[in-house]
Amino acid sequence: MSPRGVFVVLEGLDGSGKSTQAERLVAHLRGQRYEVQAVEEPGGTPEGEAIRELLLRKDLTPLAELFLYEASRNQLVRRVIRPALERGEIVVCQRYDYSTVAYQGYGRGLPLELIERVNEAATEGVRPDVVLFLDVPAEEGLARLRKGRRPDRIEDEGLRFLRRVERGYHELRRRRPEMVRIDGTRSPEAIFREIRGVVERVLKRENE
Ligand code: ADP
Repeated sequence: MSPRGVFVVLEGLDGSGKSTQAERLVAHLRGQRYEVQAVEEPGGTPEGEAIRELLLRKDLTPLAELFLYEASRNQLVRRVIRPALERGEIVVCQRYDYSTVAYQGYGRGLPLELIERVNEAATEGVRPDVVLFLDVPAEEGLARLRKGRRPDRIEDEGLRFLRRVERGYHELRRRRPEMVRIDGTRSPEAIFREIRGVVERVLKRENE
């Protein structure tokens, strides 16, 4: 049986506003009486949380990192996302396999064919109905985060890495029609108005 729920993914660089917008979207949808599962990668299951801790280690090889993300993702898909969609709920997920293409593929330089294959295995055919790609330049994302807190391992590797990731998202968008580019440099309110409109259209389409 194909899932009946609606699967919304937020993607974008660190500091692009994913968690800010996810929080607003989830609150808005719950206010409309929808059942909503809010999740975030990596993590979202007890196993995924343990994997998230491992991902903070400094000396991971790119391939080890790839497989840890995929392990966390497969747990999340099977234990949380697919069951919620089968119950007819809306799933709002920060990051999905698009992040792996952008960060591990374009950022770290792992072969894209390998990444596509492990992404396919880990997601088991569970595809988002819409991907909200919050587009901010690498410089701006980094600047926002540096104001708030200490950079984490990925942010530490600096701007050149994030520029490759940014390019990866743009390349990916050309091949993936479900990705909607949202200009993330505007005010949180303006961004949310657009996101709300996009998601309302998707919900209408799915209910027809
Ligand atoms: P992400 O989850 O993509 O890493 P966050 O939502 O945590 O991004 O936002 C990163 C930082 O930028 C936070 O300090 C947040 O308050 C700020 N921020 C979020 N959206 C905007 C925006 N549209 N304009 C300016 N700053 C923003």
